[in-house]
Amino acid sequence: MIGSGFLRFLLSMLAIPFYDEDETGLIIGIDLGTTYSCVGVFKDGQVVIIPNEQGNLITPSYVAFNTNGERLIGDSAKMQVTSNPNNTIFDVKRFIGRDWEDLLVQNYIKYYPFKIIKKNNKPYVQVSIGKKERVFAPEEISAMVLGKMKELAEDYLQTDVNKAVITVPAYFNHAQRQATIDAATIAGLDVQRLIKKPTAAAIAYGLHKDDGEKTVLVFSLGGSNVDVSLLTIEKELIEVVATSGKTHLGGEDFDKRVMNYLIEKHRKNTGINIRYNTHAMQKLRREVERAKRTLSYQHETRIEIEAVENREVSSYTLTRAMFEKLNMDLFQSTLHPIKLVLRDSWMNVSDVDELILVGGSTRIPKIQQLVQEFFDGKEPRHDFKLDESVAYGAAVQGALLSGDDKVSYVQVIDVTPITLGIKTEDGTMKTIFPRNSVIPNIKYDTYQTKADYQTSGVIEVYEGEMSLAKENQLLGTFTMTDLRSFPKMVVMMNVTFRIDANGIFTMTPIHKFEKTRIKIKIDRKRISQEKIYRMIKDAETFASEDKRLKKIADAKNDLEYFSYSLKFQISGKGQLNEKLSEDDKKVIQEAVESTIGWIESNPDANLDDFVGMKFKLQNTVQPIINRHYQESIDSKSKDQMEL
Ligand code: AMP
Repeated sequence: MIGSGFLRFLLSMLAIPFYDEDETGLIIGIDLGTTYSCVGVFKDGQVVIIPNEQGNLITPSYVAFNTNGERLIGDSAKMQVTSNPNNTIFDVKRFIGRDWEDLLVQNYIKYYPFKIIKKNNKPYVQVSIGKKERVFAPEEISAMVLGKMKELAEDYLQTDVNKAVITVPAYFNHAQRQATIDAATIAGLDVQRLIKKPTAAAIAYGLHKDDGEKTVLVFSLGGSNVDVSLLTIEKELIEVVATSGKTHLGGEDFDKRVMNYLIEKHRKNTGINIRYNTHAMQKLRREVERAKRTLSYQHETRIEIEAVENREVSSYTLTRAMFEKLNMDLFQSTLHPIKLVLRDSWMNVSDVDELILVGGSTRIPKIQQLVQEFFDGKEPRHDFKLDESVAYGAAVQGALLSGDDKVSYVQVIDVTPITLGIKTEDGTMKTIFPRNSVIPNIKYDTYQTKADYQTSGVIEVYEGEMSLAKENQLLGTFTMTDLRSFPKMVVMMNVTFRIDANGIFTMTPIHKFEKTRIKIKIDRKRISQEKIYRMIKDAETFASEDKRLKKIADAKNDLEYFSYSLKFQISGKGQLNEKLSEDDKKVIQEAVESTIGWIESNPDANLDDFVGMKFKLQNTVQPIINRHYQESIDSKSKDQMEL
């Protein structure tokens, strides 16, 4: 019998939506960020942004593995990054859907404290879990972050959640979008829609607007992406006119510039090069990011670098002016997508009614100033939550897809960011869907035999704006075999090209004469179905291991709490101090001290041991407390009788 998990997996691989009759239809919205992620849900007529266990509305997209095999995700992973730099993974979204040879991958691998290796021509991360080495695809690490957001939603809603709207940078290409869907599948989530970040922000903005047609430009700058969309919003219709961006420009790049500057400065001052010391580099990375945030509201701050050998600390001043000088060319290049979007929309800066900034890096005053100057001094809207509005929009989209009747109806018309086409015989690219085509979309084409009686053929699909196909990104090769043979130049098949609402491309060739589907072998850069299924199994194993370790941690906490509260109760300020006899207190004290000593020397004990120790302590203490309680009742009733 096929289990529902496997069926769900199969259907998701086939891109067929899976619906369970008994499911609630609840769809959460997840903003999956390079540095932070955020989850929201539409409940009882409003969007709730769900806090994590620390009470924060955004959760670091960090995953760490400890020496005892424990997996940490979010704040807890980020907090121990300097003590465990080689096994703390972050920024993995930069690598998702990219090949090993990708220039960006090659430029960045040296920069990370964790190991990135080549596997299946893709970048994988390598970590130590306990004593074992493990490698993970970027999709698997993203799945862990998505799984964490799913879990937060489940804890908050007290129900299983398995459907989500997930945000992606507007300029993500096909492979990156597909890899995001795969990551969600591994996390046990059916992607109901991939939504572009600026579109999600526009939904959040447009939801309660009813003041005529507005042209809105959304500028989103996060940890590693800049995205710009130009939209028109009128009543319930949100229409993306054009979109553009860069998938390798953001806050992390600004940090990197500052790090390089300080490493050099430190080397000149002390002769020490910390570049190859992962611990010092991690510390510096954290310091620099903190300093950058401080410089968004202060004019200068200090950054400390710890010497490796003698742990001597050198302190350097970083001014806002220096931060801006180091990054000015990068700041300027964030404006490039705005120019492209205006050009593609046939609009001028004066046509834009509202300017919306989202993403953590738009807090940088110089970025705000540059964008404002570009728009002839136009003020961006300041009533917008930079970190949460994208998840807010995704949650609204989730409610719309689930048919929640409490959500105000909004119709979103989105576009594809990159031109999609096929390679012709002379090597040029024939456009099928030009960039900024409305999605979903469908196009038809016909194919002729290129040679007499050929029985096979290849269609290569590319993404990009260059006229020569090979200068663009190869999306996939569709090989057709067993074709019926015809002489040269006979039209032998009709091909349907589709892009769905998630921007995912499919192709269906049909025999012109037989009217049947032609079999195709697709070779595209996606993890194979078998591997994804194995990754789902791994993710399930990790999740149950997390639960097991959490149970142990809870039992240990429980025992510690019980022991220390008893210790306090029999101490000078405790309630039991005066009530119990010295002998009883001595018994309790000895039992408590022995338990605390046991916890200290057995920090890695198992669940049964922690539970057993609590039981033992209870068995010692309970009879004393019960006896004391009984004695106090007896003496009260004796007093009453005497009265
Ligand atoms: P996001 O992807 O939207 O979560 O944005 C994350 C990026 O925003 C990271 O590079 C952060 O360092 C950066 N960021 C967050 N807050 C600030 C701030 N106050 N000033 C400058 N950059 C910030």
